[in-house]
Amino acid sequence: MTHSPAARMHEVSDETRAIVDMVLEYSRGRLNAEDTPLDKPLPAAELTRLAGRTIDEKGIGARKALGVFEHVLAPACITTDDPRYLSFIPSAPTKAAAAFDLVVSASALYGGSWLEGAGAVHAENEVLRWLANEFGLPAGAGGVFVQGGTLGNLSALVAAREAARDRFADAGKPRPDAWRVVCSVEAHSSIASAARVMDVEVVGVPVGEDGVLRGDAVRAALDEHGDSVFAVVATAGSTNFGIVDDIADVARAVAGTDVWLHVDGAYGLTGMLSPRARHRFAGVEHADSLVVDPHKWLFAPFDACALIYRDPELGRRAHTQHAEYLDTLTETSDWSPSDFAAHLTRRARGLPLWFSLATYGAAVYREAITSAIDLAERIAEEIDRRPDLTLVRRPQLGVVVFERVGWTKADYDRWSAQLLDGQHAFVTPSSHAGRVNARFAILNPRTTFDDLVGILDTMA
Ligand SMILES: *Cc1c(COP(=O)(O)O)cnc(C)c1O
Repeated sequence: MTHSPAARMHEVSDETRAIVDMVLEYSRGRLNAEDTPLDKPLPAAELTRLAGRTIDEKGIGARKALGVFEHVLAPACITTDDPRYLSFIPSAPTKAAAAFDLVVSASALYGGSWLEGAGAVHAENEVLRWLANEFGLPAGAGGVFVQGGTLGNLSALVAAREAARDRFADAGKPRPDAWRVVCSVEAHSSIASAARVMDVEVVGVPVGEDGVLRGDAVRAALDEHGDSVFAVVATAGSTNFGIVDDIADVARAVAGTDVWLHVDGAYGLTGMLSPRARHRFAGVEHADSLVVDPHKWLFAPFDACALIYRDPELGRRAHTQHAEYLDTLTETSDWSPSDFAAHLTRRARGLPLWFSLATYGAAVYREAITSAIDLAERIAEEIDRRPDLTLVRRPQLGVVVFERVGWTKADYDRWSAQLLDGQHAFVTPSSHAGRVNARFAILNPRTTFDDLVGILDTMA
């Protein structure tokens, strides 16, 4: 067997075996470590100085490159699965899911088509089917794991707009001056982003003090904008507060119209798996499409969003790419995940969740989700008890938002920076209605009440 020197990087040899061993050894250490520090970013100039030049014609070798990663680059990345990472939406992959991500890479799987990845797609579809069933969607529902909620929302809204276009064309009606999507003013920024990409207008409808979007507000928007509205988005767990819209009421407002109901549950829809919160999501079963991010509260590694259509054919019609070199794939009725979103090449990113669910079973997922909801409630009560803290809204899921009486933005910023500098916790300030606040996003099952109380104590 003689290979050209160019095959040095690909063939199995003493050199490549040593590289594989080294990388797996590092990964084993990281996955089994109990003392991974929280870490923090460094200024770009500092990283340039510390990392040195790593790319040249000859290569610096795996040992040195891995050393740079381990000692310079990784410590400059915040450990998102740290139990005291409470900002944004944390990440907390199960050990099985994180470990299996290595298998997905090692196996050179292609997750875009049935022809190439049938086995992987089958397993991903079993997970999607399980989720669709939890959410009360009919047996025909299905979709695809895409990169994130932003792409999931965009792909769903494109399918919705496509369906509206077809409807107008079939009726011989001229298109509206502009297509419009209706959502709460507290909907995630990715809805506005999708609207920009699609060149459609967002109609942001007001919500009450409690942050919940209801049917009457949606009805008013539909009355005002008529059939230029192609979709209504209900948020199943807002990112800033974890507040769930009244989906059943929104669904009633949409019922009897042609308007597409999309449920953005990227963060919170997972809450439906917990008996404690399930009731809050009544009405999800009416969704024409929905998204939920396994990389958030379903304990999968980055990056994965489950996008599910009630009628997958509408997703396929909107998104299938046609090209001569793809005819082999698109001229069949096989289930090819590429066809259901604005993407083509894809990693089988649903497999880590599949492996973890298969390993542990669904019950412990429900327990883990319930424990976050319980902890959020407990710490909200503690915040209520402290005279110098004010709860902004009672939590519904795992997000707790509160103010420190008398603090300015500068006070919050200084406090947050000190928490990270001292490697105590990662808690960034947020704001609501022009007022700065502090926010705990709780989802990591390793986060304890004492961790949170310890952070509150630093605000005294
Ligand atoms: C996180 C989030 C998104 C965006 O998801 P990404 O995976 O970050 O792209 C959209 N909607 C809601 C409600 C979210 O919480």
